[in-house]
Amino acid sequence: MAIFKTKGIILKRTNLGEADRILTILTQDRGKIRVVAKGIRKTLSKLAGNCELFTAGNFMLAEGRNLDILTSAEMTECFPGLRKNLKATQSAYYMAEIIEKRLPDDEPHEQIFNLFSECLSELDDNDQTIHPLILPFFEINFLSDTGFEPELYECLACGEKITPEGNFFSVENGGLACPACKADLKISDETIKLLRLILKHKIKNILKIKLNKITEKEITKLIKYYFKNLHPENLKSESFLI
Ligand SMILES: [Zn+2]
Repeated sequence: MAIFKTKGIILKRTNLGEADRILTILTQDRGKIRVVAKGIRKTLSKLAGNCELFTAGNFMLAEGRNLDILTSAEMTECFPGLRKNLKATQSAYYMAEIIEKRLPDDEPHEQIFNLFSECLSELDDNDQTIHPLILPFFEINFLSDTGFEPELYECLACGEKITPEGNFFSVENGGLACPACKADLKISDETIKLLRLILKHKIKNILKIKLNKITEKEITKLIKYYFKNLHPENLKSESFLI
């Protein structure tokens, strides 16, 4: 039986039988996988403490006939600050549910692993309040990393280079439209600039940018529309988001 080690973050836990659990883990090198953790619900299980939701760790797995079997787990990060804050926890559930439901199994997505891991760190590093750009940052980068990066430099209708003032964003086509071609949403120059930055830079740099409320609202709404257009089904965790 082949044994392998992988680095991952726990996305979901489902009880199985009397004492087992199926864990959904987002791994760095194998994408999203589902594994069986045998006996994990027994009091003396060595696995239990290292397999809480949203913990990151190194996992040893044995190849199984159907699902792989978790043989040992070593926690590397448990994000205690995230757990102490309700909104941070709800935000983590939301991101985990998106990955769990929208990412196919067993397909490597290292960028999504890094994105989730960095967003969890930012949620963990909260000072009671959660930065309003964390979830929009996650949503737009998730779309971009799964093949839906919006076009932000040329008009999708006529191909002209985008110049300042009077532009639009087409949720349907996934990108900008010039003032002559028009589309469903008006978009300010500040929001275009911020979107370009969000798709190029790490979250910790983005959260340092001083934002005005109008741009913050506009970008949050626009990303939400774009996300919903591609993933219209409601998520369970969404109803808990304040
Ligand atoms: Zn145009």
